[in-house]
Amino acid sequence: MPVTPRIVVLAGGVGGSRFVLGVREALRRRGIADTAEALTVVVNTGDDLWLSGVRLQPDVDSIMYALAGVNDTERGWGRQGDTERVNAELQEWDAGWPWFTLGDLDLGTHLARTGWLRDGLTPTEVLERMSRRWPLGARLLPMTDAEVDTIVVLEDGSRLHFQEWWTRHRATLTPSRFDNPGIDSASPAPGVADAIAAADVVLVAPSNPVVSIGPILAVAGIRNVLRATAAPIVGVSPIIGGRVVRGMADVCLAAIGVETTADAVAAHYGARAHGGLLDAWLIAEEDAALAAGVDGFGIRSIVTPLWMTDVDRSAALAESALAAAGV
Ligand code: GDP
Ligand code: CA
Repeated sequence: MPVTPRIVVLAGGVGGSRFVLGVREALRRRGIADTAEALTVVVNTGDDLWLSGVRLQPDVDSIMYALAGVNDTERGWGRQGDTERVNAELQEWDAGWPWFTLGDLDLGTHLARTGWLRDGLTPTEVLERMSRRWPLGARLLPMTDAEVDTIVVLEDGSRLHFQEWWTRHRATLTPSRFDNPGIDSASPAPGVADAIAAADVVLVAPSNPVVSIGPILAVAGIRNVLRATAAPIVGVSPIIGGRVVRGMADVCLAAIGVETTADAVAAHYGARAHGGLLDAWLIAEEDAALAAGVDGFGIRSIVTPLWMTDVDRSAALAESALAAAGV
C-alpha cells in the first residue's frame, strides 16, 4: 500500500487549478486511489461577489470545474460548451454588468449555491455539497465562511470591487492598495486550521501572491496556524523569468511594492525561520541565477521546470514540490 501523505494546497483560480490537477495526478501516479483523502485545497474567496442576486465564487469554481474536467480550457474560465442565453437576457434588462459574462451552466452553479446559502448553509457546507456531484479527488475548503470580497483602492481614493477592476478595466487603473473589509476578524473556515496543523506538507500554489494567496494569509489566524504547523511549507513561483505567466499579477505586485521576479516574491512571503511563510521555494530554470539570493533569505531554493502547460508537467512540478518537503 502506498503511503498517503496529507497535503494542503493554498490556491487561487487558474494557476491554482493547474497546480492542483498536477498534485492529484502525482498522487495517482504514486498509486493512491483515494486522492481526496490526501489532498485538501484551501481556496481564495477574495474574488467572490454578488451579481444579479447570485453569489459567485470564481476561484472556487475554477478549481471545482478543473478537477471535474468540465472547465473551458480554451477561454480559461467557466464551463466547457456553455451558452449565454440568460446573460443576453440580463443585458436586455440592463441588469448585472455588461462586461461580466455569466454562462448558462455557470449560472446553474451560482443559483444552486445561492439557494443553499439562503437555506442557511455556510459556504463550507455549500462547497461540501457541490463537491458530491463530481469525483473531484480533492477536498475543497473556502479560506473562510465570511464575505471578505476584495476591494481595489485607487490612487484618488475611489474604491471598486476587484472583479470590476480586473475584468472591466483589465487592471489598467493603478491601484494603491487592496482591501478585504472584515478579513481581520474573519475566521478560517471549519477544517482549514485542522488540515494545516495535521498536514505533512503545505504547498503554496503558483497563484497571484497579492489577490489570491494574499487574502488567504490575511484571514485572521491562518498565518499563525501556518507558522505553527510541523509540516514544511513549500511555495511555487508564479513568476518565470521576470514575467507573470498569465494574468496581471505584475500590476498587483507593483501596487504593494514588490518587483515581478521570483526572488522578490519569495522575499515578500518571507522565510518561516524569520517569521515569514516559506521553508522552500521552487523557481524556474530561467531564474537559476536567483537561487543563491533566495537561499540568502533563509528559504531553500529549488530550481525546476515551472511551466504547467499540460498535466504531465504539472504533475512533475507537484512531485518536485513534494520531494522538496521530503514527502
Ligand atoms: P486566478 O485566481 O485565476 O487569477 O489564478 P491564480 O491566482 O491561481 O493564478 C494566477 C497566477 O498563476 C499568475 O500570476 C501566473 O503567473 C501563474 N501561472 C499561470 N500559469 C502558470 C504556469 O504554467 N506556471 C507557473 N509557475 N505559474 C503560472
Ligand atoms: Ca482569482
